[in-house]
Amino acid sequence: MKALVKSAPGPGHVGIQEVAEPRCPPDRVKLEVAYCGICGTDLHVLSGAFHSNPPVILGHEFSGVVVETGADVQGIEPGLRAAGLGATAVTCGVCRFCRSGDFIFCSQRKGMGHGVDGAFTRYVLLRPDQVFEIPRGITLEEGAMTEPLAAAARAVLEIAKAKPGETALVSGPGPMGLLCLKLLLAEGVRTFVAGAPGDGERLRAALCCGALAAAPADELRACVLEQTAGQGVDLAFECAGHPDSARTCLDSLRPMGRMTQVAIYGREIPLPMDRIFYKQLTVSGSICYTAQTWRRVMELFAAGRLRLNDLVGIKLPLSEWEQGFHLCQSRQMVKVLLYPEK
Ligand SMILES: [Zn+2]
Ligand SMILES: [Zn+2]
Repeated sequence: MKALVKSAPGPGHVGIQEVAEPRCPPDRVKLEVAYCGICGTDLHVLSGAFHSNPPVILGHEFSGVVVETGADVQGIEPGLRAAGLGATAVTCGVCRFCRSGDFIFCSQRKGMGHGVDGAFTRYVLLRPDQVFEIPRGITLEEGAMTEPLAAAARAVLEIAKAKPGETALVSGPGPMGLLCLKLLLAEGVRTFVAGAPGDGERLRAALCCGALAAAPADELRACVLEQTAGQGVDLAFECAGHPDSARTCLDSLRPMGRMTQVAIYGREIPLPMDRIFYKQLTVSGSICYTAQTWRRVMELFAAGRLRLNDLVGIKLPLSEWEQGFHLCQSRQMVKVLLYPEK
């Protein structure tokens, strides 16, 4: 089968290779990949900025159909449509973080798509606990966005604990920002979206999703104040990983507001810390998710409270991965999905 492989550390060394189709051991489930989304992390693995463990197949945001189950596997049958929780592929299982469900902090952890083989290929093997059924009525394209949606749900529902009737600012209209927007709207939170020059396409997408207003940050400021009785928003989500965006979040919050850091800066940035002091803000980080977050996201899907098809910009065959990566990098598309060729 064909696979998109990072073959050596450092910048580049990514290309399509022929790899052996995996055989299903007794304790595993074999999934035929339907779609795998391109994520910022994949771009960073390509550039060498994000640590990977080559040779390794990239791709960690995937959906597919179960084609085979090992003899010891119960309760999962071929034909099941599922998304895969790749981030728990390797963990120690016994440290304090594994025991509390916060596997992301396990020092032994290796996730699919950079630590171990991922899903930019035709078949993947999963443990049964990594398999999450995609509810009826939800497309495989939407299912492929379960992973980033769970990361957004961690930030919006579990870290920020957004409540109906609150107001929020999402700064950065990339895939993660728009997923946060969708979740905030589903919770009944009135939400503004701030972008940068060059975000036109994605800001339009934010308006189509139902944002109260979506514009470059400096244009949005007056509107936010007007709509919040001059006070500012209750919640801000930094989804761009840019210092200007962090400043926009701190400036837009009302006194005692909550900021959640969802994106990565990849470097040290100057911040007006006095805003945090004078407004008594709470600033929290949100990284990854737990398995419980995944169950929650599947419940939201099943309840019909969330549709994501409008976030799919384009679907490309795996062989056209370079074009897909380029579209993501140039911020012209919300989500780019790759699918394996038969
Ligand atoms: Zn991702
Ligand atoms: Zn552990």
